Amino acid sequence: MAHRIECADAGMDCAFVVESESDDELVELAKLHGQRQHHVEMDEADVRELIKPAG
Ligand SMILES: [Zn+2]
Repeated sequence: MAHRIECADAGMDCAFVVESESDDELVELAKLHGQRQHHVEMDEADVRELIKPAG
């Protein structure tokens, strides 16, 4: 089952959404997005709390 992370759930005014079957990939992509777009270094544990079912 696919999961998703929405950047807005992290408190950002941002429409970025990432979906994947792999939670590890989700976390990796979300962390990269945070670094590149928001210059924020997110803790992996915090990123994992943002994971929710897709769709
Ligand atoms: Zn964002």
